[in-house]
Amino acid sequence: MNFEAQLEQIPLKLYNTASRQKETLVPLVDRHIQMYTCGPTVYNFAHIGNFRTYVFEDLLRRAIKFFGFSITQVMNLTDVDDKTIRGAIANGVTLDEYTQPYKDAFFEDLKALNIEPAEYYPAATDYIADMIAMIEVLLHKGIAYRGGDGSIYYAINKFPRYGCLSHLHLEDLQAGASERVAADEYEKEHVADFVLWKSYDPERDGQIYWESPFGKGRPGWHLECSAMAIKLLGETIDIHVGGIDNMFPHHENEIAQSEACTGKKFSMFWMHSEHLIVEGKKMSKSLGNFFTLRDLLNKGYTGRQVRYMLLQTHYKTQLNFTFEGLDSIKSALNRIDEFIQRLLRVSTQEDGRVTDPILNRALKTFSEALADDLNISVALSALFEVIRDINGLCDANKISKKEAEQVLSLLKQFNQVLGVLTFEKQEEEIPKDLQEALEQRQEARRAKNWALADTLRDKILNAGYVIEDTAQGARLKKVEVKP
Ligand SMILES: [Zn+2]
Repeated sequence: MNFEAQLEQIPLKLYNTASRQKETLVPLVDRHIQMYTCGPTVYNFAHIGNFRTYVFEDLLRRAIKFFGFSITQVMNLTDVDDKTIRGAIANGVTLDEYTQPYKDAFFEDLKALNIEPAEYYPAATDYIADMIAMIEVLLHKGIAYRGGDGSIYYAINKFPRYGCLSHLHLEDLQAGASERVAADEYEKEHVADFVLWKSYDPERDGQIYWESPFGKGRPGWHLECSAMAIKLLGETIDIHVGGIDNMFPHHENEIAQSEACTGKKFSMFWMHSEHLIVEGKKMSKSLGNFFTLRDLLNKGYTGRQVRYMLLQTHYKTQLNFTFEGLDSIKSALNRIDEFIQRLLRVSTQEDGRVTDPILNRALKTFSEALADDLNISVALSALFEVIRDINGLCDANKISKKEAEQVLSLLKQFNQVLGVLTFEKQEEEIPKDLQEALEQRQEARRAKNWALADTLRDKILNAGYVIEDTAQGARLKKVEVKP
């Protein structure tokens, strides 16, 4: 059985928040996965906590493909909500003019982190008609109602499954309701009812509104995701993903809206990544520990280092971001880089078969770890075991060029998932004294001073280099493995 076919035999188990269990991923259709990922609100630059979620979603996407599935991924851009409207008005520009630079910045950041592009990045403002259509269905079914402020709300007590994802009970939510009624908040019938269509307020919204059968206004944030997911992926999707912050109420509300509209299960899997904290504390601007990706790049870190940092902790574990940790990533990446460069320089032709058991074991460990709810630390340990074992063989001159290529091809398979390795051959730096020795030797030969030329040649050879005659003249090349 070939490699790809073997991977397709491994069941990919993922933790489903809805069932609180690991379940085997079985696509609704063939071997194709439809995945919806809640994207950024484009009113500012995304911060590293946001990117923890996006890097996790990228790992999930790459793992799904690694195990032989195809995928259609949607990530929405929320370009209308309170924050974007406030920003546009404060800056005296249109909503579009305000959000576009942040959309562009977001895509630049994804690139810097080597996050694979999703198939669709729908902007909420392009799907207003679909959101209005959903509200009409919910009004027609008697699940939505007009509140005291003219906005349309979703009545959660009309949806018995409300709370199924977060495992919250309606009664718990109701507990707070009496206080709000006492505080004269009559707009909503129930405290946890959420807005589907927010009615227009000229003082708050300036000139930003859409026309609808229920008057001027704008869609509620939760509705945006339901409408775009259903429109682009269908009524039932395979996986819906987001940060743990999104589980309640956002995802709970998405389920309520979508399932009440379609009468069908909205998503088979729900997956959530845990929080990121900074130096042991919740990230916040007031504590001065709030970082966008751009802040880190400006400090001289690379997107690759940040990606590795965000990737290396299991997505269901809280990630403590520290600068010390980020610095230590440099040495981990150097170790990998030096190993790959070493493999690229192996030139021994003699065929050996000593690497086979090492590579087979590594691939098994790596793929089984990934299939176990993306156990990244075990997967990375498989990579470092390969480095340790093969380095040992290299030290003992037991690796042939053919074997080095096999190791490299395994690493490339790993990298389909990890996205942090680089395989470009670096030009070696020749030590200055050897470069000078080479030039002096050329001169000595021209002067027919053979004794000096031989001495200089020996100096070069003893330092582990050979002299190669090329069309451009003589040059030095490092000997990795003695023939
Ligand atoms: Zn969402």
